[in-house]
Amino acid sequence: MVVHTDLGLRDSTGVVVAFSERTGGVSAAPYATLDLASHVGDDPSAVDRNRSLLLAAFGLETLRPRLVTAEQVHGDRVALADEGSAGAGAWVDPRHADFRDPVAGTDALITSTPGLPVLMLYADCVPVVLVVAGPRPAVAVVHAGWKGALASLPGVAAERLARHAGVHVDELLAYIGPHIASCCYEVDERLLSHFCNIFDTIGAVDGRLDLAAAVRESLARAGVGPERIASVGACTRDRTDRFFSYRADPITGRHGALAVITEGE
Ligand SMILES: [Zn+2]
Repeated sequence: MVVHTDLGLRDSTGVVVAFSERTGGVSAAPYATLDLASHVGDDPSAVDRNRSLLLAAFGLETLRPRLVTAEQVHGDRVALADEGSAGAGAWVDPRHADFRDPVAGTDALITSTPGLPVLMLYADCVPVVLVVAGPRPAVAVVHAGWKGALASLPGVAAERLARHAGVHVDELLAYIGPHIASCCYEVDERLLSHFCNIFDTIGAVDGRLDLAAAVRESLARAGVGPERIASVGACTRDRTDRFFSYRADPITGRHGALAVITEGE
């Protein structure tokens, strides 16, 4: 179910970071099986069950009602999730007694509140998790499609997280999750030239865009050293057995990036 659980963060910092895959859930095709998204047409009760399974995989069942999700809009807004956000967008099924809307219009969630799992959803876009390790941990989950990458949302979120946590940006750790790689990401020439103009590391090769390179450069410009950026996972478009891919099938589910500070739980 999970790509990356061996980050060692939990033991050393009390932070769990995870990128989910599409297997191990209860959704039926075309959302099979661990679809975590509310807005794609899947059965809400299946999605709610999948989210419970995801948290249970880390022994975090007790935090399930406190899950925080966002209404992702391919924008550039960063939002802080705190105690008052607990449970925002936790449940997809509107009939659930504790149903609450997700955090409105945001593609990056920051939190330093222990026991508050924050989740972002993806099918090809680049998942980014940022971590402040240390005595007062803080985390961010970021959704970077081409709009977010072009707007340097990962770098903006890194700066916001560092400021919120009272640390320098170069103290952050960054994890890039499974996304569509340049092998499968053909874009039109105009868009590619926008990226070439903004990012030094983007070249116009075969009309293909390396979104993660733009994400890395965005983080580097904000001050996150390359040695503190880890990349996990495969190309989502190539591995539809493991991941959801919008380019492979516009009607599909979403995998997730989850971060939670477990210290004190
Ligand atoms: Zn590919």
